[in-house]
Amino acid sequence: VEIRKITYVIPCYNESDVLPEIYRRMTHIAGELAAYEFEFLFVNDGSSDRTSEILNAVAEKDNRVKVLHFARNEGHQMALTAGMDFATGDAIVAIDADLQDPPELVKEMLEKIKEGFEVVHAQRRKRPGETFWKLFTAWLFYKLMSWTSSYRVIENCGDFRAFTRPVLMAISSFRERHRFMRGIFSVIGFRQCIIQYDRDVRYAGKTKYSFRKMLGFAINGILSFSASPIKIIAWFSFLLLGSSLIYFGKSLVDHFVYKVTAPGWTSLVTLLIFLTGINLCCLSIIGSYIIRIFEQGQRRPLYWLRDTKNINFAEIDSNAREIEEVKLYYNTFSSK
Ligand code: UDP
Ligand code: MG
Repeated sequence: VEIRKITYVIPCYNESDVLPEIYRRMTHIAGELAAYEFEFLFVNDGSSDRTSEILNAVAEKDNRVKVLHFARNEGHQMALTAGMDFATGDAIVAIDADLQDPPELVKEMLEKIKEGFEVVHAQRRKRPGETFWKLFTAWLFYKLMSWTSSYRVIENCGDFRAFTRPVLMAISSFRERHRFMRGIFSVIGFRQCIIQYDRDVRYAGKTKYSFRKMLGFAINGILSFSASPIKIIAWFSFLLLGSSLIYFGKSLVDHFVYKVTAPGWTSLVTLLIFLTGINLCCLSIIGSYIIRIFEQGQRRPLYWLRDTKNINFAEIDSNAREIEEVKLYYNTFSSK
């Protein structure tokens, strides 16, 4: 396939401090790669700072800059999803706004795509400026992921990657509410490759992932791509059933052969609490899956928009339901 147009998809949540710089760096690259047409698709994920104003001002002057404004904060993964629905490029580069991922890597990525790869993952070689805690939790997450799931999630790859339009079309048809992009990329197939880069420190501002968001993200990753937590419950119950049977046999022998009656209230109560605990734990694991069925069953749109800038609806070929809904209200939007 020939690549003529490149789309950068940039989720932004309260990134007003970094936007002018990332815009400067990306326009510089666009100048160097003059053979390609560029599109800078910013997804404003319900920011509460000046992100909106800054993006609108840039879009006013440069029509390669396109903006989707979410009506509320939906999270990084949803912002990526929306960006992919609206992207019109032949090659798409998903990148964080904070310049931890160098946008210049697009050149290497394009080389790989020309070689015939359809997904190019960027893997971080080092991660300066990250706390020990962040590195440790990230490590634990990848380990848990690979133990519980049969799909391989590439270690130390965030959401910085390039892919071709057919890949985008395939992924856009995955509409699960609890999305975990890395997991989706690991199941879709296609020809994939990894390139390495050194991660920079955040250009400005601070991480938008609180511990709670990180935890939610990790649980999502595991529950959405593996049913093994349920299987672990089954093994647990076999183990308990087995040991309680053995214990029952022993008490029978104690009673009828040795004629000793157990005075052990304490052990009984301890056991009771232990078993109740395990029960509740298992119920909560099953419950987590049921919650997902429930939320999936509601079939709410994944995101909804407050406003757009420079989006040409005629150009967009995704048939995502969210876009259909936006088109219905198109006239009320201030888009040109
Ligand atoms: N982000 C977002 N919505 C959120 C949280 C983050 O769109 O609710 C964006 C954020 O603006 C950035 C990217 O996702 O472009 C990655 O976030 P961040 O750099 O804070 O995460 P980290 O690099 O610390 O994992
Ligand atoms: Mg970051």
